[in-house]
Amino acid sequence: MIVLNYHELVEASPSNAWCLTHETFDAHLALCKDRLVSPQWFLEHCPNPKASRTGSVLLTFDDGFLSDYTHVYARYVKTGRIPGFMSFIPVDFVGSPGRMSWEMIEELGRNGVAIGSHGMAHVDLTTVSDVELSRELTVSKSMLEDRLGQQVTLFAFPYGRFSRRVWDAALKAGYTHLFTIQLGYHRGFEPFLYSRLCLTNRMDADYMRQHVRDPDAMRGVAWRVSTRLGLYRQLMRWRHR
Ligand SMILES: [Zn+2]
Repeated sequence: MIVLNYHELVEASPSNAWCLTHETFDAHLALCKDRLVSPQWFLEHCPNPKASRTGSVLLTFDDGFLSDYTHVYARYVKTGRIPGFMSFIPVDFVGSPGRMSWEMIEELGRNGVAIGSHGMAHVDLTTVSDVELSRELTVSKSMLEDRLGQQVTLFAFPYGRFSRRVWDAALKAGYTHLFTIQLGYHRGFEPFLYSRLCLTNRMDADYMRQHVRDPDAMRGVAWRVSTRLGLYRQLMRWRHR
């Protein structure tokens, strides 16, 4: 399966590289529309190695932008055009300008959108103290759980930055699925890590087409060689100490 990672969607004039226009999002959907799966379907099938290589596509959105609610949910989920998505929330940003309110997040949670944590203050977790790391993971989790009335076991690393210390702390906090922004099919080099393509508006239609055809084809020589030798996981464990 292939996991795509979006941020804010706008009508026109994206303010940064991670902000995409509605038109670009529509063009992406046209490429993979009949392959989209719901978060529930993804979570049920993601451990199965056979599902790993299928071209099913899951949509995820980070940072709790208002467009998760006003655009993706209101225009696509509610109308049945997409089967839901995952939304990763940095809890400190809830209700601030351009971001969703708690009421909106709760509504998403009741209607097929899987809500995950993106920490509290959107900090690079590899740079914070153990105490701060634990707070980012556990307080965001419990605040989301209190609001949603259900367990929150999905986590996306802010800026895609992680280390063994960070993933160990996230597992200890009770998360089961940790989302990176590494390239490739959904299964990461550890069973609890999930790769995603983080989309920017510099990626053209050809890049997108190639990615949904074969996400592993975009990966570098180091990955290719070390995977063939069965060393990739060990190398990554060492690199992410
Ligand atoms: Zn983020």
